[in-house]
Amino acid sequence: MKVSVECVGCGQCAAYCSFDAIIIFGRASMNENCIECGECVKYCPLSAITESI
Ligand code: SF4
Ligand code: SF4
Repeated sequence: MKVSVECVGCGQCAAYCSFDAIIIFGRASMNENCIECGECVKYCPLSAITESI
């Protein structure tokens, strides 16, 4: 997963990740728990998360 500069660190994505894979430190970033399920993408109000290829 990729987090763009649009991210404001609101934490909404982290609240919805079932794997505790998102850490907020200024901006969101994914840790090693991330299974790339893509769920968080739809919960970001700023569309700041995209699937990395
Ligand atoms: S929901 Fe979007 S803006 Fe909020 S922390 Fe997550 S990626 Fe950033
Ligand atoms: S892709 Fe899935 S596991 Fe990874 S951070 Fe988003 S919701 Fe969590």
